[in-house]
Amino acid sequence: MTQYGSVISAQTKTVDSINPATDAKLESFALHTQAELDMILDRAVATQREWSQRTFAERGILMKRAGAYLRANAARFALNATREMGKPIGDAEAEVEKCAWACDFYADNAEKFLADEHISSTASDSYIAYQPLGVVLAVMPWNFPYWQVFRFAAPALMAGNAGILKHASNVTRCALDIEEVFTESGFPAGAFTTVVVPGAEVKRLIADDRIAAVTITGSEPAGVSVASESGRYLKKHVLELGGSDAFIVLADANLAEAAKTAAKARFQNAGQSCICGKRFIVEDAIYDRFVAAFVEESKAYTIGDPEDRATKMGPLARTDLRDDLVKQIEGSVAKGARVVLGGTLPKRAGAFFEATVLVDVDDTMPVFREETFGPVAAVIRARDAEHAVELANDSTFGLGGALWTGDIERGKALARRIVTGAVFINGMTASDPRLPFGGVKHSGYGRELSYLGIREFMNIQTVWVGPAK
Ligand code: NAP
Repeated sequence: MTQYGSVISAQTKTVDSINPATDAKLESFALHTQAELDMILDRAVATQREWSQRTFAERGILMKRAGAYLRANAARFALNATREMGKPIGDAEAEVEKCAWACDFYADNAEKFLADEHISSTASDSYIAYQPLGVVLAVMPWNFPYWQVFRFAAPALMAGNAGILKHASNVTRCALDIEEVFTESGFPAGAFTTVVVPGAEVKRLIADDRIAAVTITGSEPAGVSVASESGRYLKKHVLELGGSDAFIVLADANLAEAAKTAAKARFQNAGQSCICGKRFIVEDAIYDRFVAAFVEESKAYTIGDPEDRATKMGPLARTDLRDDLVKQIEGSVAKGARVVLGGTLPKRAGAFFEATVLVDVDDTMPVFREETFGPVAAVIRARDAEHAVELANDSTFGLGGALWTGDIERGKALARRIVTGAVFINGMTASDPRLPFGGVKHSGYGRELSYLGIREFMNIQTVWVGPAK
């Protein structure tokens, strides 16, 4: 059995990393055997018991060291991400720095976020205490191969949980780098371990008694599978799934700023972010002017070697992902969408695809109805603000979104009617350790980051002390 053009081989029991900019094989990794997985899980359980007894101050010292280790090794880690999944090297460096920020943030704030909360009741004293759940399995995607993991790991470990990472199979080197960060920073062996297994192995891991809870960041089908299995074994789980974020531009918006930010919101990471702007919903009065400005801004996102610092857009992470995107474009053009920028397969090796803008998109087309995980912007005409909100909500997804207007109060009122986990007014959706992150509808449930994220994998314990008042 092979997957993704021979990435995983059942015959040799290995997984390969392929450079999507060149199609060249980078490295081959042995899959973990059952005996190795048993050892890893046993050790994680034993370590978590001891780890959970340490003070926040003790855990915080190590988490600060993890941040420092990331910064000290940023060049190497960033290059590994660029080579395994194709993001421009400067973006990869920024991603590693953001992970260090998350380590510092939770080292500094975890104790405050998880402090006992006293609540007046019939008791002499009653309070909420937060207790870690145990060993948490994290199933992660390749698009931000470090950030997706650290935004789970920094809070989970600070809270006294242990982590088992099952990373996407195309970024195994990054997965091992992350384990190295914790090991070399002095975390006890077993506090955070990477398992090298295919996605098909996740079911068995969820069923294992040694796993207490599960988090997945990934596609909708993978989320459904993890939710079903977690439900079967009654394990707490968090789902961070796909998105088809609306980027609404109303007639009173600053058009030049909106167009510039729109291009960044769509073409960052070659369009492979769950919170990329994907559906650009533009009020009729400014539609043509917006399209002209947006196309001009989008031209800056030319493709090139992601290891070259001048490159703004690298390849997609895998050729099968690019093929899916091409089908979505073709399906939409067949229904009447017009390509006004890009749209053709570049004649070069690798999984490259040009920045592409489609106009005359309507709500029947694949680029409207499905998530597009690549550099394709769908521009949709809205009659007015009411219609724009209606179109934005006409999606199975509900992750993030942006709304551009010159009238902030009106923007805030409209934001309350947009059914997503985040609305950014006059900006683009982005994650920030200080703010909660997550979605509704088919984008999943639960939250990461902020004080809310660290409480997801905790037993929220009520303590009641008598005698009653
Ligand atoms: P994916 O194919 O779902 O893979 C994500 C992870 O799930 C990988 O580790 C994968 O392992 C594993 N997996 C695949 N099938 C599985 C199954 N049936 N059961 C359990 N695990 C399974 O997603 P992707 O292509 O890596 O990432 C892109 C998707 O992630 C997009 O939909 C994007 O919107 C979403 N995403 C969401 C967020 C968010 O915060 N909401 C953030 C980033 C990305 P293998 O690689 O071994 O198959």
